[in-house]
Amino acid sequence: MSFSLTVIGSGSGAPLPGRFTSAQVLNVHERFVLIDCGEGTQINLRRFGINFNRIGLILISHLHGDHYLGLPGLLNTFHLLGRQKELHIAGHRKLKDFIDYIFSMAGFIPSYPIHFHNIDALQPGEEIEFDEYKVSTFPLTHRIPASGFRITERPRMEKIRKAFIEKYQPEYEQVRAVLRGEPYIGPDGNEIPRDLIVIPPAPPRSYAYVSDTVFIRSIIPYIQGVDLLYHEATYDKTLQLSATEKMHATSVDAATIAVEAGVKKLLIGHFSSRYRTPDLLLSEARHIFPETLAAEDGQIISL
Ligand SMILES: [Zn+2]
Ligand SMILES: [Zn+2]
Repeated sequence: MSFSLTVIGSGSGAPLPGRFTSAQVLNVHERFVLIDCGEGTQINLRRFGINFNRIGLILISHLHGDHYLGLPGLLNTFHLLGRQKELHIAGHRKLKDFIDYIFSMAGFIPSYPIHFHNIDALQPGEEIEFDEYKVSTFPLTHRIPASGFRITERPRMEKIRKAFIEKYQPEYEQVRAVLRGEPYIGPDGNEIPRDLIVIPPAPPRSYAYVSDTVFIRSIIPYIQGVDLLYHEATYDKTLQLSATEKMHATSVDAATIAVEAGVKKLLIGHFSSRYRTPDLLLSEARHIFPETLAAEDGQIISL
């Protein structure tokens, strides 16, 4: 069961060849969530082989251009491709006005239904439920309203042990009953302990996305223990003052949050275009949190 992240754009500000602005795709059991949609996102989605029709949900963290200016083009392309499948979009209230506006300017109704989730109306940590995963949002501190996201897969099924099947040769209906949680009674009339019947599922995997924000500890309860945390690291530590002024984070901020939230892995990105490579930011972060990766367009991280 896949749970993997593809980085679509890892930069900030304006798109550059090889480093587009913010966008990522999380694959949860072959259902795709697009997180942010900077300019040119649809070009990189094609380049990295992402099937447009599998995108069922788009999350937009905030309305700075480097996080959503690719959305009009992508929604238009979905329409041109004759998409029928419902699309969920979650973002701040004004995003809905923007989407309505772009379609009204063209004078058409999209070929597919759009279901909009206004994240301003959600309580921090409140979940939106989907078939394969659930999404919660939490407030960041940036120059305009901005939100982080946590995406958690639904618990996976228990598996029946081969040894149990071979020993007791249960009927199909009995196996289904066991998987529904019912007890299994052996031929001697005694209940067979459940751990002899099933292999418990691995714990649900989770991913958290934090961009853009200043260093802010109040997000920690919402991202605690995730398998992968993406945290923006626009600047290196020598630019801490300017980061705080512009309401962005440094590599040290991102790594400190990763340590304090007890996450398993950290991915940094949203690099300022002043850095030709993210090497400096990566080494600063790894000094504090060794399990850090620097985002690159096209990179895939499987969890
Ligand atoms: Zn940004
Ligand atoms: Zn921003």
